[in-house]
This record gives sequence, structure tokens and C-alpha cells, in this order.
Amino acid sequence: MVTKNKVQGINYLKFNKTKIIATIGPASSDYSTLKSMIRAGVDVCRINFSHGDYQTHLQTINTIKEINEELDTNVCILCDLQGPKLRVGEMTGGKAELKKGNNILLTTKKIEGNKNIIHVNYQNLIRDVKPGERVLLDDGKIEIKIIEKVDSQTLKALILNSGILLSRKGFNLPESNLTLQGLTKKDKEDLIFALKNDIDWVAMSFVRSEKDIIELKKLVSKSNPRTQIIAKIEKPEAVINFDKILECADGIMVARGDLGVEYAMQKVPLIQKQIVEKCLAASKPVIIATQMMESMIENPTPTRAEVNDVANSVLDGADAVMLSAETSIGKYPLKTIQAVEQIIHEIETNSNPYYKGKKPEKSSPTFISDEICFTAVRMSEHLDAKCIVGMTFSGYTAKKISSYRPNCDIFILTSNRPILKTLNMVWGIRGFYYDLEESTDKTISDTIDFLKSKNFIKKGDIVINCSSMPLALKQRTNSLKVSEVK
Ligand code: PEP
Repeated sequence: MVTKNKVQGINYLKFNKTKIIATIGPASSDYSTLKSMIRAGVDVCRINFSHGDYQTHLQTINTIKEINEELDTNVCILCDLQGPKLRVGEMTGGKAELKKGNNILLTTKKIEGNKNIIHVNYQNLIRDVKPGERVLLDDGKIEIKIIEKVDSQTLKALILNSGILLSRKGFNLPESNLTLQGLTKKDKEDLIFALKNDIDWVAMSFVRSEKDIIELKKLVSKSNPRTQIIAKIEKPEAVINFDKILECADGIMVARGDLGVEYAMQKVPLIQKQIVEKCLAASKPVIIATQMMESMIENPTPTRAEVNDVANSVLDGADAVMLSAETSIGKYPLKTIQAVEQIIHEIETNSNPYYKGKKPEKSSPTFISDEICFTAVRMSEHLDAKCIVGMTFSGYTAKKISSYRPNCDIFILTSNRPILKTLNMVWGIRGFYYDLEESTDKTISDTIDFLKSKNFIKKGDIVINCSSMPLALKQRTNSLKVSEVK
């Protein structure tokens, strides 16, 4: 319930700054598992439209909303559109064992697959895929090579390495010249469903240029303009066109699963670092995704390399780290969240992933407010402040302050409820609802009283407020106030 003229509290269960995104699936969608995962540190729930049906997705969305009510949390929802993802079809018994040296048929005929034949959903298979070209199944875990055309819908291939292929796993054709569309018919239907259910973020797969994002933005703005858009970077074209994509999108996902097969895998680490750096400079959130805790799909503890991967993403300055199969179909969804939370906590407490971002540019139309946010963050370091408190309606000030990565806490007040949820994915942001427009002084004193009542601050702490004066005009941030808590 909205309490007029008051700061409305939200329960922040963990205080890490790097956010955790968990993909929700059969292993995690029941109320008690999801609730314990949120208690353990999940900030964002991802619904992957590559799997499941609308009834299941709706149930998951309602469960998240119910848990938010019960725990007084702000967990937001990210819907991931499948895009023109190439997938194998259903397998008899859900899987097939593919053996090195055997032949296998790839067909566009609607059949149930087995170790000898698999259905693929790429209608232009025969036209676009040539003998000698490689096909990578399940993010490259199994590799096959095309031998010859068998009929108008079928190709014969040689299995180059053994592995278990599960139903509906993705496949890539890195050596073929493909004719793929941007948003598919399925994406458009899924988008309508997602927007109707008031989700916070929508991710677009296989983005090639800013044109894809502009097309999606048009559709989103027709029915739910507050929904923000993530561009998934997983194709070489997207890396080439990255700067323009970043300008158009509200956030970025480094989708390493497909990126690592579409590109040479050894190129991914540097691409990841460059993308994070550019996102920080543009004050747009960036997610590191895929295989972060892959071994925890089967095991209760991660490999040392996975621990390092999460830690390095935190050190680089990612806004969020994302779990996929680990939490959607893995054996240990809760343990995975606990492990990621511990790694983030350790790195944020004992190293210095702070004070990043790019100094504001004088030529920018937002230079004055950017400079205030930048100065607030630098001052917080010099004054050893406990927190920076910002006010926002569009979310801009919140993202700006966050992008300079202060070591102190960031509390954001807004009267824009949807934005409050959206900001839950952004590094370090803890948002609160506040709807008083009386005066800046009153807002600052209300905030301090509220944060004190919640034990977020105590007597003697330094608080830095970034606000806009006069408040009622809702202009960009234009003033700074430093207070000592009495
Ligand atoms: C990826 O490829 O890394 C990714 C996140 O995409 P998806 O899980 O939708 O295949």
C-alpha cells in the first residue's frame, strides 16, 4: 500500500552491490525454493522464453510478485526473448547419446530425435549449410561436420566428439552464411505476453545492429513504455556495431554462451572487459551471463575457475552476474545463489572494485547533473560517507551515481514505482518509494529519519544528498547537501 507523504520501506535482505540474476525454471519456480533464493540474494528473476509455456511463466511471475509482497522486496523480472535461436527439437526420452565417428542426420522434418537423426528449426538449412561446414550443438559441447545433402530437408553429418544431447538445446552454424530475421513471430507473441504482465526488463537475443533495438523499442513503447530493453551481445555483428547498440539500449548482456561459439572462444574475455568498460562510461547496466557456475548444475560446490570468473566480473565492475541452467534446471539452485553471494561479498569487502566510470564531459547536455553525481561519489570517498541519497523520476540520477561506483551505500528515492523495480538490477542501488514534493529540506530530513529508523545509518554518519531544487519542478539533479546524522 502506498503511504502518502512518507518514505516507504523495502526490505533489503543482502547488501551486496553486484546484483544476482537467477533464471527461473522447474528447479526453482516453486514458492519455497524461490523465496529462499531471494532471501539468499537474488535481485532479478529471468524468465527464458526459449523454454516453458505461458501458463508456467504466468505462475512464475505471480509467485515472484507474491514473494515481493510477503518479504517486502523489490525483485524485478527480466524476460528473455528467444530471438532467431537455432534449436534441435525434442528427443525421444529427452536426450540422445551421440558417439564420435558415427553419422547423424539433421532434418527440418518434424520428427522426434534420437542418436541417428535430429530435428533442427532452421528452415533454410539445405540452402545455407554446405558440406565441410561445422555445426556446434549445445554451446559447442558437441561438434559435427556436414558430409552431404540427403534430400530436400535433410543433411548427413559426422559426429566429431561424443556427448549427450538434450531436447531443445541450441546449435550454431559459425561457418555458414545465414539469413536470419530480427524479432521472430514467437518473439512478438512472447513480448505481448510479457508486456501485459508488467515485466520490468526485456532482453533481445541475437541483436545485430541498433536497428533491432529500435524495432523492439517501437513495439514496447506502444503498450508498456516503462519496460526497459537489454541488448544481448552474442553475434560478431553486435560486437562490431556495439557503440550504436549501446546508445539505443537501456542495458547490455554479455551472452557468453552463443558469443563463445559464434566467435573464437579466446576472444570472449577481452570483449567482455571492453563491453563492461563502455557500459560503465555510458552509465548503462551490464550483465555477465552464462556458465558462471556451470558445474553447480550437477555439483554442490563450484570449480575454482568458476569462483574466479564471478570474482573477476565483480572486479571488472559488472552490474549483475547471471545464472542460467544452474538455477533453472540444476540440482542445487539455492546453493548456487549462496555461493555467488559469498563470492560477491568477499570481493566487495576485501578489494577495491570502486570509483570507476568516466569523468563527465563538458560537452554533454547533462553535464551539470552528471558532475554533481560524480562529485557526490568522489566526496563520499574523501568524507568516508555512509551513503549517497539520490532522487530520481526517470532513473537517470540513480544510474549515474551507480556508474561512478561509490564504496558507500546508494539509496534512491522515487515516486515512480515501476522505475523503483527496474533499478533493482543496477549496481548498488537500494530504492525506496517517496512521494512528498513539499521541499528539499523536508525530503532530506525525512530520508535521514527513515534510514535511521531502518538502521541503515546511525548518529555520527555522514550522508550526502543529491537532489533537485526546487523539488516540485522535477528537474535534473542540481544540488548537493552533506549532513552529519544527529
Ligand atoms: C547466452 O548465449 O549466453 C545466453 C544468455 O543466451 P540463451 O541462454 O538465451 O541461449
